[in-house]
Amino acid sequence: MRGLVVLAALFAAVCGKETFEGHQVLRITAADKAQINLLKDLSELEHLKLDFWMEPVHKSLSVDVRVPFHSLQIVKAFLRYNLINYQVMILDLQDLLDTEHRVMIRSRAVQPRTTNDYDYTNYHTLNEIYSFMDMLVEENPTLVSKIVIGQSYEGRPLNVLKFSTGANHPGIWIDTGIHAREWITPASGTWFAKKIVNDYGRDAALTAILDKYDIFLELVTNPDGYEYTHTSNRMWRKTRRINPGSTCVGVDPNRNWGTGFAGAGSSNNPCSETYRGPSAHSEPEIKAIVDFVHAHGNLKVFLTIHSYSQMLLYPYGDTSTPCKDEKELDDLALKATTELKKLYGTSYTFGSTIATIYQASGTTTDWTYDQGIKYSYTFELRDTGRYGFILPADQILPTAEETWLAVMAIMEHTKNNPY
Ligand SMILES: [Zn+2]
Repeated sequence: MRGLVVLAALFAAVCGKETFEGHQVLRITAADKAQINLLKDLSELEHLKLDFWMEPVHKSLSVDVRVPFHSLQIVKAFLRYNLINYQVMILDLQDLLDTEHRVMIRSRAVQPRTTNDYDYTNYHTLNEIYSFMDMLVEENPTLVSKIVIGQSYEGRPLNVLKFSTGANHPGIWIDTGIHAREWITPASGTWFAKKIVNDYGRDAALTAILDKYDIFLELVTNPDGYEYTHTSNRMWRKTRRINPGSTCVGVDPNRNWGTGFAGAGSSNNPCSETYRGPSAHSEPEIKAIVDFVHAHGNLKVFLTIHSYSQMLLYPYGDTSTPCKDEKELDDLALKATTELKKLYGTSYTFGSTIATIYQASGTTTDWTYDQGIKYSYTFELRDTGRYGFILPADQILPTAEETWLAVMAIMEHTKNNPY
């Protein structure tokens, strides 16, 4: 095994793509606070190169951690010695990635010429998604337009699709792909875009919404990171900012927002997956949305879509003081997740971010809510950890379909309760 791993690492160095041969994902279940503290200590041992897919402060006391091959023995010994329970969720991460890649390549054999030919059942590269956006605009010029709200750190356009049937409508914002490795989210967002076009004028509920609201959809909110997951490192989460004075790259775009910036639940260490960045809105990908929200001035819904863990979260993340609309947001979360479950039985938990997952500061929806956008929600899509970020492509369609029911429930509620 070790020989294979060395060979794989050499091969990776030659083609520039990181491999995850022999990496396992462990679900570690801490029994109490003391064990959580041990996990925190473990997470700070940088030489182990552990990748916590959830922070070791999870309320259910269970975290998924990617453990590189070279750290497996010591981590498992540490867990056993401290009587901390764990189970292996993913036996060899590279096996899953190889399968994912094979399925993707198969889809690429045919280049879509229209959005009808686009393969919604597969994952796509940044260029393919950007081409999809252009095709959709070209095919539906009276309904869809593309606006560029800024440029990423590496200079890529930040493209937003605008679905609009008239001037001066209030707006509904949906973003996907803010965390690079959460591929199911831009894949779902792409399906949403096509669904909106298909349903307008045919589906009474969607038509009624679009007659009153514009929908803004940013499919790849972190394009540098997304591209990097395709070319170099499938497990990349952050942006691709170079951090002066550090060899570690990237800022967590969901810790960079102005509300509660630099509070507990974000890191000042550039090597951390939750590094907040040097200042609030320092990241061009975030600043572009902040400027858009201000310039628009009349957004009523803000949905930011992540994966995984099947949750629907409302503010706040940085404080346990309830937001003033908590009752309504909670009722609506129940309604939305109930709708979602009807299609395939997928169960969601919901609640405020801090009560449902953990304290997180500088997050998107804390900021958007404080800008007066009442219906601010964070989605965490499928699954609950069997595949984690490597959700197989055959789950894209059902995930998108069920999520759309929740999105529709939130948009309809907004339409029926204007503010
Ligand atoms: Zn995320």
